[in-house]
Amino acid sequence: MDAEREAQGQVILTDNIERKADGRLFFAGHSVPDLAEQYGTPLYLMDEQRLRANCRMYTRTFRECFGGRALPLYAGKAASFRQIYRIADEEGMGVDAVSPGEIHTALSVGFPAEKIFFHGDGKTDADIRFALDHQVGYFIVDNPDELEQLALEAASRGLRQKVLLRVTPGIDPHTYKAINTGTVDVKFGVPLETGQAFAFVRRALELPGLEVRGLHCHVGSEVFDESVFEDTIDVMTAFMAEVQQKLGFVTDMLNVGGGYGVRYLETDRSIDIPARIRQVAGHLKERTESLGLPLPYFMMEPGRSIVADAGMTVYTVSSVKRIPGYKYYVVIDGGMSDNPRYPLYQAPYTVLHADREAPFYAVYDLAGRCCESGDIIQPMVRLPADTKRGDHIAVCTTGAYNYSMASNYNRLGRPPVVMLTPEGSYVAVRRETLDDLIALDC
Ligand SMILES: *Cc1c(COP(=O)(O)O)cnc(C)c1O
Repeated sequence: MDAEREAQGQVILTDNIERKADGRLFFAGHSVPDLAEQYGTPLYLMDEQRLRANCRMYTRTFRECFGGRALPLYAGKAASFRQIYRIADEEGMGVDAVSPGEIHTALSVGFPAEKIFFHGDGKTDADIRFALDHQVGYFIVDNPDELEQLALEAASRGLRQKVLLRVTPGIDPHTYKAINTGTVDVKFGVPLETGQAFAFVRRALELPGLEVRGLHCHVGSEVFDESVFEDTIDVMTAFMAEVQQKLGFVTDMLNVGGGYGVRYLETDRSIDIPARIRQVAGHLKERTESLGLPLPYFMMEPGRSIVADAGMTVYTVSSVKRIPGYKYYVVIDGGMSDNPRYPLYQAPYTVLHADREAPFYAVYDLAGRCCESGDIIQPMVRLPADTKRGDHIAVCTTGAYNYSMASNYNRLGRPPVVMLTPEGSYVAVRRETLDDLIALDC
């Protein structure tokens, strides 16, 4: 099978992207130019098999390492729409939600409320009431203000709400600043180093409306370093020992967050996630044993590594601008309205011509159609020298933080999400129409 595929075409970046001998790009076994014609552009594509395989990579490895005492939670913020929650449910995942909107989306397709974990550093009173009304399984409490309000609200309903307490372990995940959430002075969680986390746990245990089940931490996104989760576990287990000793609190659940990186470029390393999880599991067992702690129920919250490589965005070229001696631009029919990640934090992407290869290539900035000079999807991309209006351009690995970060800037409608299966394709989110754009205006 592999030899056959190699003979037919060339695999690019991940094994669901292939350049056929005639130059056409295929994604998840489908012709990208044909999909662009059928559904129009800009277009988000999602490889359902890859999405499911990524879920299974976590569920299988968790089962192997922890038996039934572990659950991977899909971090919905990476891509939140109804079909993804159906798939996550079918694949046995729990879900992380950060807003009533995400909770509502999951519940609307029957996602079990008890497997929803409600995150966020800015939960309002209304958010807290909403989540209690809908009986979400767990709150991951970010801070003392939320703790007091939740306890009050839960107690007034005669409930004991299950919670995990988010603490900040002070680990630098050796990653970009903008997505680093584990060091002491970030806006998420309560820091260990200052003693505030200990007080946070002590206070939570006093409050009648709460059932404190365990601890949460999340050190950051795009983690490649082997030691990050091990270091995190060292810090967290030491803290677990401290609260057990001093407060008699036994940590029944430990959630170490999300963050495994994915390959955006051919030059990026690839991570063997199951091997990493086995290592983390081994380390946790060792540490808890040596500290005399029971092995907690284990959780992780992958977002990017579930959806990123299942996604691709397809555009049509609107114009090609060549400014001799300066810069060449390929301008497309989408932009920061469907993918703001380069303007936000210079995120790298692999950009491919979807229709053909060429004898000569040139270097272009791939520019969007938004009225912002910073609206660049990716600078310095290599595309055929004869790239022209009407050609199709594919941006790879856009499954995470693209659709979910999309906006209507410039009153552009958001693209549809089309799912690809071995049998065919179907629309999971339809294209936003002009009437959708004025639907909220009075
Ligand atoms: C963003 C986030 C995740 C998911 O991170 P990925 O890098 O997409 O895996 C998980 N947990 C928390 C608390 C987060 O903020």
